[in-house]
Amino acid sequence: VKLTPDIYLVGSGALGFDMSSAFDCHIYAIVNSGEIALLDAGSGLGMADVIRNLEDDGLDPAAITTVFVTHYHIDHAGALARWRELTDPTVVASQTAAAAIRTGDARTVGLQAAKEGGFYPDDYILVPCQVDVEASGSDRFSVGELTLTALETPGHCDGHLSFLLEGSDRTSLLGGDVVFWGGRIMLQNIPDCRIDEYAASVTSLAEHAFDALLPGHLTPSLRDGKRHVDAAAHAFRSLAIPPNLIQL
Ligand SMILES: [Zn+2]
Repeated sequence: VKLTPDIYLVGSGALGFDMSSAFDCHIYAIVNSGEIALLDAGSGLGMADVIRNLEDDGLDPAAITTVFVTHYHIDHAGALARWRELTDPTVVASQTAAAAIRTGDARTVGLQAAKEGGFYPDDYILVPCQVDVEASGSDRFSVGELTLTALETPGHCDGHLSFLLEGSDRTSLLGGDVVFWGGRIMLQNIPDCRIDEYAASVTSLAEHAFDALLPGHLTPSLRDGKRHVDAAAHAFRSLAIPPNLIQL
């Protein structure tokens, strides 16, 4: 589904638009000057649907040259080994995420806790995958004529990156699991979810100028997305906790 002149939504799960596996995060394809990069890989359980979605949008999966990963949770990183087999892209992740993705360490990436919490099938594993580039804050990458800048945004988990995409008709924050529609955040009862770091990440994102908020789940906002980040930052600055995406 084409969202902007350069960004397509090609996968999305139960916390989104049911376009691929229920376990998938939003998978974005950034397309410019003949280059295709994916922003987050998905769980790997919905590969056939993601590939069909790409083709339905006129995008050749074989043309994917880079996969940027916001963090190591398996709905975002689980498919990396599958993409490696299919198109052998350059995989970009933070140093912290890269270390866990290379070993497929279920405990570090929260998979063990998520299984015990009933979120994932018992037989699901994170297939280890080589990471080619370890990105840290302010690192810049190009996709065609566009520039993607990494921003360090821990708190939802260790080593979380968000990406600012500039050079098109609008600036977009590809925020992963930091801030969602309505100023929601995603706190989880896992060892590397850290509220103080979360607050610092959200308030630092609010210092950036951008138009679209393209998060890892829930509704994207294509023009006035910053208001959602501002709402979460306002709550944190007032010593409150923004509303949580995960509710029972
Ligand atoms: Zn996550």
